[in-house]
Amino acid sequence: MVRSARLSANFNSQPPKPDFTTMERKVRVRFAPSPTGPLHIGGVRTALYNYLFARQNGGDMILRIEDTDSNRFVPGAEDYINEALGWLGIGIDEGVREGGAYGPYKQSERRGIYREHVRMLLDAGKAYIAFDTPEELEKARASKPNFQYDASTRLGMRNSLSLPAEEVKRLIDEGHQYVVRFLIEPGRDVEVNDLIRGKVTINSSILDDKVLYKSADDLPTYHLANIVDDHLMEVSHVIRGEEWLPSAPLHVLLYEAFGWTDTMPAFVHLPLLLKPDGKGKLSKRDGDRLGFPVFPLEWHDPKSGDISSGYRETGYLPQAVVNFLALLGWNPGDDTEIMSMDELIRRFSLDHCSKAGARFAFEKCKWFNHEYVMAMSGTELAGYFKPIMLAHGVNPADFSDEYIAAALEMVKGRVNLLPELWDQARFFFAAPEEYAEKDIRKRWKAETPALMEKLIEIIQNLPSMASKEAEEVVLGWITDNGYHMGNVMNAFRLAVVGECKGPHMFDISELMGRDETIRRIRLAIDRIPQPAE
Ligand code: GLU
Repeated sequence: MVRSARLSANFNSQPPKPDFTTMERKVRVRFAPSPTGPLHIGGVRTALYNYLFARQNGGDMILRIEDTDSNRFVPGAEDYINEALGWLGIGIDEGVREGGAYGPYKQSERRGIYREHVRMLLDAGKAYIAFDTPEELEKARASKPNFQYDASTRLGMRNSLSLPAEEVKRLIDEGHQYVVRFLIEPGRDVEVNDLIRGKVTINSSILDDKVLYKSADDLPTYHLANIVDDHLMEVSHVIRGEEWLPSAPLHVLLYEAFGWTDTMPAFVHLPLLLKPDGKGKLSKRDGDRLGFPVFPLEWHDPKSGDISSGYRETGYLPQAVVNFLALLGWNPGDDTEIMSMDELIRRFSLDHCSKAGARFAFEKCKWFNHEYVMAMSGTELAGYFKPIMLAHGVNPADFSDEYIAAALEMVKGRVNLLPELWDQARFFFAAPEEYAEKDIRKRWKAETPALMEKLIEIIQNLPSMASKEAEEVVLGWITDNGYHMGNVMNAFRLAVVGECKGPHMFDISELMGRDETIRRIRLAIDRIPQPAE
């Protein structure tokens, strides 16, 4: 179902609240990854939607690094995020590298801010200190099925609500580790207004008293840091993956506890990315199983040394990946498929985002890539092709730019991924070393060498190598002599290309020129073994 985010009728049972979607407030969005590994393709989609929304509304796009979980920190992950977003053209206005008026943009550098906010909640009686050790928590869980640290159990635990004040002070002074928990009042309906999903209501009794801060590393947990930063950074819309939806009621309660309800951002939880086949959420294993990357760039795991493939290295163009991802959860309202970043910015709207999960049909990404390759000129493609030539030991400087561009122009229609340009165009840059076995068997007859000698003579005397003219003369010669058209033309092709496929034969010979065409036919006569009589 398509829902209009601008229809306040969706929410009219609410007390009046500023409708941020009508631009009363400057649009400020953030992409807030945790540097716990390579950015997953689902994270890229989240970043992209934030970017499209920001650009469309003349807003700001923030990149905030949420690195408060020190146990899960992975070196290199932050650089990877920056490089991936850069490759895709997802621009950042404020962030660790870009700077900005709301910094620092890395949570581990904001400890003082979080400490102060934890203190605010404690002073207001909205949070409390808990000393329970892991063993004690384990025991509590074992003693009661579905144990939850909440209003029904907290007085039986060791915390500042159950212990006398002097005891609390003593424990802290003696250096005992503690956490700060959020005091959740039970029995309240908590409403989350999501611009895609509408109103989601849950009862606060199902929430536990979430840990907001740990003295052990003097760091807040995700929930506190996320809310405090969204508030201080004046974020207007929180656009993130569906997996964060269950946290949203808690976040609403935190805004309330701080007294920030009036400036609470609008929530937008994007639909899940689903497996290309079967049921459930897209996972890395699906990529391994079906052979597609789940990461934008190749990732070298610093611990295991494992390498995971990336869209860039596999030969996708960033425009194709962006276009593909944009349509996983959003549609433009008609059947337009090919859209540049600028067009996506113009057409994007939350109204056309769906609630239902989006199937990760990776074959479609290949199709997009094919379309973008097709739309590029040979000269543009040469920029991607030259490194591929070098990797195959061919020096691009040995050929003119015009030659390379014309060759790519001829083969681009047969290509999905960039490395396939080499498979299709390699013969333009070196005479075949080998000739396809099955084509030899089919097309290289006992009389072929003699016929090819005659063909050389015809080509030698062609008034022009221009495709049309050459074709007319050569086909005329074949017909006039009653030769077998298929055999002659395929032997010609086998000699020049090395196999019986490729672009139009006379386009090839025009580009290669008379000398090279003749040289290759000679080579083939010398090299292709005569069939046994
Ligand atoms: N740090 C969270 C993540 O890794 C952020 C979720 C959010 O956008 O609130 O995705």
